[in-house]
Amino acid sequence: MLDLSFEAPAPKVISGAKADWELVIGLEVHAQVASRAKLFSGASTQFGAEPNSNVAFVDAAMPGMLPVINEFCVEQAVRTGLGLKAGINLFSAFDRKNYFYPDLPQGYQISQLYHPIVGEGEVIVDMAPGVARRVRIERIHLEQDAGKSIHDMDPNMSFVDLNRTGVALMEIVSRPDIRGPEEAAAYVGKLRQIMRYLGTCDGNMQNGNLRADVNVSVCPPGAYEKYQETQDFSHLGTRCEIKNMNSMRFIQAAIEYEARRQIAILEDGGQIVQETRLYDPDKGETRSMRSKEEAHDYRYFPCPDLLPLEIEQAWVDDIQASLPELPDEKKARFVTQFGLTEYDAGVLTADVDSAAYFEAVAEGRDGKIAANWVINELFGRLKKEEHDITASPVTPAQLGGIIDLIAGGDISGKIAKELFEIVYTAGGDPAEIVAARGMKQVTDTGAIEKVVDEIIAANPAQVEKAKANPKLAGWFVGQVLKATGGKANPQAVNEIVARKLG
Ligand code: ADP
Ligand code: MG
Repeated sequence: MLDLSFEAPAPKVISGAKADWELVIGLEVHAQVASRAKLFSGASTQFGAEPNSNVAFVDAAMPGMLPVINEFCVEQAVRTGLGLKAGINLFSAFDRKNYFYPDLPQGYQISQLYHPIVGEGEVIVDMAPGVARRVRIERIHLEQDAGKSIHDMDPNMSFVDLNRTGVALMEIVSRPDIRGPEEAAAYVGKLRQIMRYLGTCDGNMQNGNLRADVNVSVCPPGAYEKYQETQDFSHLGTRCEIKNMNSMRFIQAAIEYEARRQIAILEDGGQIVQETRLYDPDKGETRSMRSKEEAHDYRYFPCPDLLPLEIEQAWVDDIQASLPELPDEKKARFVTQFGLTEYDAGVLTADVDSAAYFEAVAEGRDGKIAANWVINELFGRLKKEEHDITASPVTPAQLGGIIDLIAGGDISGKIAKELFEIVYTAGGDPAEIVAARGMKQVTDTGAIEKVVDEIIAANPAQVEKAKANPKLAGWFVGQVLKATGGKANPQAVNEIVARKLG
């Protein structure tokens, strides 16, 4: 059985001028579906295309145009739901969320308010080995993205780029189960990791493919436990929502700022007004954008252009059967199967490609040694050049070959590092390189003895000192290793030196 047990971390506590406060955070994450076409049109979703070049008539809201659902996007939402261990709703429906904005030519966004496609799920957010937070997912719904207004290209005019209009988003709504800024970032990171494993969202935050609306409130210690027992929101403080965050660092900074702002107001006898705020990364502050709008402000109603979405259980089962092994399960398996620490298993399963690389190296070898080489040598070296594992010049077979040469006593650990560098920069078969360059370890005790004798004969003063203080024998070992170019078996050298010095 895989062990996925863990302890809950302590919530973040912030000391105000008068009292201690705890944070309560809930996230609405917008994840762009990794689809080449939009949610209701065949227009391309390619990032960075010429402005307004990927716009179908329906995206531009031309009169008489009708949306047609993209089955692939529906499948990705179901896959994501299954990956988050969520219930899939065989019946879901699209609603119009009406609001006016220049980047929304329809005058409404097609979303799923009343009947989302995915119901309740959960995400395990790892904070430290053996310590994790279980964050409940309330729902995931499919919706259209809006376009982009550009206000900084001309002093007198604004521009609009509709390329993003109608691109499929999955809105993943969490329960308010996140208890600190680091957890919020780790939660987004875990969602991204899972969706990348699933292939449903590329999670590129810089391109805006993963953005979060962050809801923050503060409450006195103990209040959250009451909410957990009763699920009664009145135990929690009033929240503010910080819109559209697309950086882990800013998410954390914004939460921290916002919590302190709320605490100052409350300790001053004031009240928090529920509102939507924007984070200004230059100033490191949040500021009010608008008062919180309610569902009725949007005049939601079922979209008359689209039939309710009915999917079959058999289709859901097929998608379930096609899911890859997910990060939590892979990590737990690496711990049991290869005897790795949870930390190392976490590093190796951070992305699917690293995990696959490691497994190829570990196959038929000592898992811990393989993990050490992959993490310390290979990842370290790749990082220096900002290379991805997929761009590694050393293949798993080559790295495995180096490990085999150490295990077989052919080379020392020190020579192995030199060999690794040669393979990394010049390529080649490790065993052939060792043979061709005479890098084989000398285990022939006769040959080592000869070198030891020479060094002892040349350094009579050192010999006297080492005889008085056995700790100084290390100097001789060093000299022998140096004289043999690091090829002498260190253990054999140690023994011979100790014997000769008596
Ligand atoms: P709305 O429909 O007004 O957007 P929701 O109930 O859907 O409100 O909640 C939106 C998000 O706000 C969810 O992620 C939820 O977890 C979070 N949230 C709700 N109440 C609080 C609170 N008191 N503190 C922090 N986050 C909250
Ligand atoms: Mg909401």
